[in-house]
Amino acid sequence: VDFSKNIIRWYNTHKRDLPWRETSDPYLVWLSEVILQQTRVEQGLPYFHRFVDAFPTVDELAAASEDEVLKHWQGLGYYSRARNLHHAAKEISSRWKGKFPSDYKDILSLKGIGTYTAAAIASFSFNLPHPVIDGNVYRLLSRYFGISSPIDSTNGRKEFSELAHRLIDLEQPAIYNQAIMEFGSLQCKPSSPDCGSCPLMHSCVAFKKGLTGSLPVKSKKMKPSDRYFNYLVILDSENILLNRRVKQDIWKNMYDFPLVESSSELNTTQLLQQDGFRDIFTADSFSFEGQPVRLKHQLTHQTIHASFFRMQSRHHDISITDSMVQEDVSRLSSYAVPRLIEKYLNFLVT
Ligand code: SF4
Repeated sequence: VDFSKNIIRWYNTHKRDLPWRETSDPYLVWLSEVILQQTRVEQGLPYFHRFVDAFPTVDELAAASEDEVLKHWQGLGYYSRARNLHHAAKEISSRWKGKFPSDYKDILSLKGIGTYTAAAIASFSFNLPHPVIDGNVYRLLSRYFGISSPIDSTNGRKEFSELAHRLIDLEQPAIYNQAIMEFGSLQCKPSSPDCGSCPLMHSCVAFKKGLTGSLPVKSKKMKPSDRYFNYLVILDSENILLNRRVKQDIWKNMYDFPLVESSSELNTTQLLQQDGFRDIFTADSFSFEGQPVRLKHQLTHQTIHASFFRMQSRHHDISITDSMVQEDVSRLSSYAVPRLIEKYLNFLVT
């Protein structure tokens, strides 16, 4: 009880003013929660505003094309979030006539909504007592109660979830949830938590035992895998060839260039020997322009080593697939592209 009271008291004096805190509209709460997964508040804020301006209601989001939705998401990464958002909006629009469901189970049934987001919407919008457990909450609970069960294990998750259910303030679940996340984010920070000014200091196990650096515990350390992308940047006077990523992979349905993936970095001679290259070029009437531009792009679980080979070619020698579009260079900005491609395009024009 003291724990909950303390963090709510702390929250009332330390909370940040964030636009989604001024509303209980479930659509806006949902949007903000999805944007903030894997994204810092400062980075997510402008996206939130742009998204709400473009799609002020669930129905308007449902009526948009996937291209439009992805375009507004461009640069935020984890594009499946945007596709799921769009899918769920259509479901709300058709199944609940645009009215956001208010039952926890119904919310949880929506595509892309897991227990965390469902609890956030249920509590912030409908004041239902479902505890949110995000990375901030895991960290705080693990340190304060001195729990060393791995937060990414099934048993650990269960233990933390039971504890969170016991702790939630049943009378003010919305404020309690906001408070515990904000506390974890601002006070009990991942590295160098602010223990000296912490109202929980005297009862915090990690502080008393000097364990703040070793809690929370994670069982697995995921090493990002390396992938080698060889992009063919094929220019033909003012036109450039784009490729829509239709396969089940990162950046699905966004645009990049015709791509040959390899198991290591390639030079032009090695590129020519790849089967994937011959699948694209049916004849030899092309030429390379200068050296490839190499850019490294870090995703959470993958490191992309990209090489951009700039080429001139006559397009009738290229096997154009349904996913490819030939576009005027000046119109590139209307396509949803991954940040890696955006970085290269900036490089191309400067
Ligand atoms: S005393 Fe330190 S470790 Fe404990 S809850 Fe406060 S900030 Fe976190």
